[in-house]
Amino acid sequence: MSGYTLLPFRFRRTDQHDVLMVNECGDFLFLPEQVFERFLRHELPEDDGHFFRLKSHLFCAGEDIEVALHKTAARYRTRKSFLREFTSLHMLVVTLRCNQRCSYCQVSCAGKDASLYDMDVETALKAVDMIFQSPTKHPKLEFQGGEPLLHWEVVTATVAYAEKLARRLEKKVSFVLCTNLTAATREQLEFCREHNVAVSTSLDGDAAVHDACRKDRLGRGTYRVFLEKLALARDILGRDRVGALMTTTAFSLDHLRDVTDEYLRLGMDGIFLRSLNPYGFAAEEAATLGYSMERFVEKYLEALRYIMELNRKVFFPEYFATLLFSRILSPFATGFVDLQSPAGAGISGAIYDFDGSVFPSDEARMLARMGDRHFCLGNVKTDDYREIFVTRLKKLTFVSCLETTFPCAYCVYQAYCGTDPVRNYLETGNEQRNMTHAPFCIKHKGILTGLFDMLRHADDTTRDIIWSWITGNAELVNRSC
Ligand code: SF4
Ligand code: SF4
Repeated sequence: MSGYTLLPFRFRRTDQHDVLMVNECGDFLFLPEQVFERFLRHELPEDDGHFFRLKSHLFCAGEDIEVALHKTAARYRTRKSFLREFTSLHMLVVTLRCNQRCSYCQVSCAGKDASLYDMDVETALKAVDMIFQSPTKHPKLEFQGGEPLLHWEVVTATVAYAEKLARRLEKKVSFVLCTNLTAATREQLEFCREHNVAVSTSLDGDAAVHDACRKDRLGRGTYRVFLEKLALARDILGRDRVGALMTTTAFSLDHLRDVTDEYLRLGMDGIFLRSLNPYGFAAEEAATLGYSMERFVEKYLEALRYIMELNRKVFFPEYFATLLFSRILSPFATGFVDLQSPAGAGISGAIYDFDGSVFPSDEARMLARMGDRHFCLGNVKTDDYREIFVTRLKKLTFVSCLETTFPCAYCVYQAYCGTDPVRNYLETGNEQRNMTHAPFCIKHKGILTGLFDMLRHADDTTRDIIWSWITGNAELVNRSC
């Protein structure tokens, strides 16, 4: 028997007679089944090539166990360093009114001229005061709705006040305007340019796909006017300050290649293939818009393979795969609010509703809009920072760690995955649940399995493409042939 100690790791037997192992640092290895068995029985000779890889990747240690444990702890801390940026993303719902009525609207927005759905300036400034109490040095304020362009005076007042506070407190604040763009005026976009406000908008695909869900209040598709305003926004702000997100519905699920082509045609930098969230109108219209998560995974991976092929000619990342590949291949933290452990809810992002209510995530606010205020942490007008972000948030954090969730505690993908207590609560009435058949788990397990398959069979160019996405360096891929 060899004298080595196993360090903590999780594993999964694949259908190709080998074993995927992932340790606490997020390092992974594939090992032939027989070698794996010998390794577990402490029978692997120390001069074996596999043993050398296992030891150098911290799956086991010899007499230097103290050093190995320190290295493991240091790398674990690095992967969790997003926690030091507590809380960086703050979303403000300046109005719930919207000039559109998209069939999947997750916030069940109110009519364009409805009353009682606007945030007043006083509430917005109180929210900013609270935001600047967060320890982060880099608060990001994201204006959401409804359609924030319809309540512009609160956006401008908030930006001015946040800039002033940032100067006084020596923090670096940034702004994002989440807008459907269709009501945008030249003046509003010029304000965004002057105050360095980035624009995040929505594009679901070509005219047929976009117009299937993204309609105005009279039920007319918005694609044509969207393209006009996109051109204006790019003209004023610059192409790199205007990004777009898509939502996959039953109308686009079988056409993700075409959606990708449309993004390329319009000169987008890349694409984020997002699944539908079961909130708001999307929940009400699930029969028309929805699909099983198994089908989404299948179609997502199909589209990803297509995007990989495209990248042999042009740099065009798929952002969800980029995030997961970064977690798999690099030792660094990737703070993605929707997929973290502990959950990003409140820790990485928080949302301030139009009436000053504070929620740990956009989904928690959507749930409140559906009539259940279970996750409301308080209100900027009546509660202080400590009460909201320490006392109440702590209770949620306790139940949002993968290490205490079944079967995540034993899952080989734990180092790359996350939890969503709001989604769990929506589906089961409990913030923690057995994840075995949860759509959240089906999605992430399916996609991560697909990505590991891709990595295992990757040729040099595929590997270069993946690294070009992770680093954002298009030059890593030789596209001359
Ligand atoms: S633009 Fe946004 S807020 Fe307005 S209806 Fe569509 S999804 Fe809802
Ligand atoms: S949600 Fe599923 S894939 Fe993610 S860690 Fe838990 S069991 Fe694994």
